[in-house]
Amino acid sequence: MNIGQKVLESLKEEISELEYKRYIKHLHYDEKKSTSDLAIFYAPNALVVNWIKNKYTEKISHLFEVKSDLKVKVQITLKNKIEKKSSKKSIEVKKGSTLLNPSHSFNNFMVGGSNQFAYAAVKSVSESAGKIYNPLFIYGGVGLGKTHLMQAAGNVFLQEGKIVIYTSVEQFLNDFTRSIRNNTMERFREKYRKCDVLLIDDIQFLSNKEGIQEEFFHTFEALKGDGKQIIFTADKHPKKIAGLEARLQSRFEWGLVADIQPPELETKIAIIEKKCEINKVKLSKEIVNYIATVIESNVREIEGILSKLHAYSQLMNIDIDLEFTKNVLKDQLHEKRTNLSMDTITELVAKDLNIKPSEIRSKGRSKNIVYARRVSIYICRELTQNTMPQLAKYFGMKDHTAISHTIKKINDLIQDDEDFKVKIEELSNKITSLS
Ligand code: ADP
Ligand code: MG
Repeated sequence: MNIGQKVLESLKEEISELEYKRYIKHLHYDEKKSTSDLAIFYAPNALVVNWIKNKYTEKISHLFEVKSDLKVKVQITLKNKIEKKSSKKSIEVKKGSTLLNPSHSFNNFMVGGSNQFAYAAVKSVSESAGKIYNPLFIYGGVGLGKTHLMQAAGNVFLQEGKIVIYTSVEQFLNDFTRSIRNNTMERFREKYRKCDVLLIDDIQFLSNKEGIQEEFFHTFEALKGDGKQIIFTADKHPKKIAGLEARLQSRFEWGLVADIQPPELETKIAIIEKKCEINKVKLSKEIVNYIATVIESNVREIEGILSKLHAYSQLMNIDIDLEFTKNVLKDQLHEKRTNLSMDTITELVAKDLNIKPSEIRSKGRSKNIVYARRVSIYICRELTQNTMPQLAKYFGMKDHTAISHTIKKINDLIQDDEDFKVKIEELSNKITSLS
């Protein structure tokens, strides 16, 4: 057994079996490349790399010292050979493609207060093309389901045998310039003016493109005149799109303008559950709730998260539990957290518990202060990227072992005491919402 293996063996004795199986077991020590001051380990994927880096490098380095008297820097490296299996078929529509994504259906669209108006509008348009709201203009922020809804109507029309064009401004523009170049304007006009339904996604990109606005205006007039249904999406209300000809702006508002707002928690939960069902990913209620709170509004992020969870759990052959989920989401959260400092956290915990921030960092042993200190340490560990020694220094503790004891204590409490768990979650949410 080489020294690296020995170190991992003794680490095994110090941590839970679950942790060992999930992470440590997958490490391989590179005996050849390691030196007397550098220990190199390979991990099969980024998840394991991050996890070990965050949690175990100091411990591993400490064990090296104990076992061999060597003071080594521990390096955890991604092993290139092992690649992530792609977990499921991609369900995003390719950019610029005129194909509709069949899973963008009304059935798969979860309706809540935030999107029910837009949903109802698109649904009624899909039931009577060209007759009620023409054009229909859907607007709202990124990833809130505009494309999904627009395509849901498109899918209904397709089923009815209608000629549907789904396109972007960019593609419309490409088509247009190509026809000018190739002298095929006739064909271009035929295509765009003879369809039954025209769906144009992200129409805000017409802004400041005069030539294409002109052509587009005539396309619009022709279709509208023939009673053909037109649906637009945009990231803002027509009035707010700058660099748009007045006649286009006004026409965008001729029919109905409907907005989509960011989803409420319940809607997010329903969407996550739906995506799980579609992608055959099994998640507990607790995890679904957790993801729904972490994702602020952009629903598109949800799909990324589910596929990441799914891929990792398959790769490592383990079930998806809350801890695992939190770790996978760490990168996602990390960006939001980089500006959170230990000072801010301590101040907020102190305020919440009605003591002074300086007391938390003092040597005070009264029950209140110890409690506040433990909670602060735990939250700092969860919400910042500080290492255990950095935490130890900041909170005036002896060393990183003292910190890991504290964290373990809080983790045990969280496991045993539901009220405490809720309290910590509330506090953490309050703190993250400030950053
Ligand atoms: P937008 O076009 O507004 O940026 P998309 O329509 O592309 O957003 O939606 C992003 C992702 O979120 C898509 O996978 C879509 O299916 C999903 N999504 C958004 N809102 C909902 C919803 N209410 N129900 C189900 N899925 C949704
Ligand atoms: Mg879109």
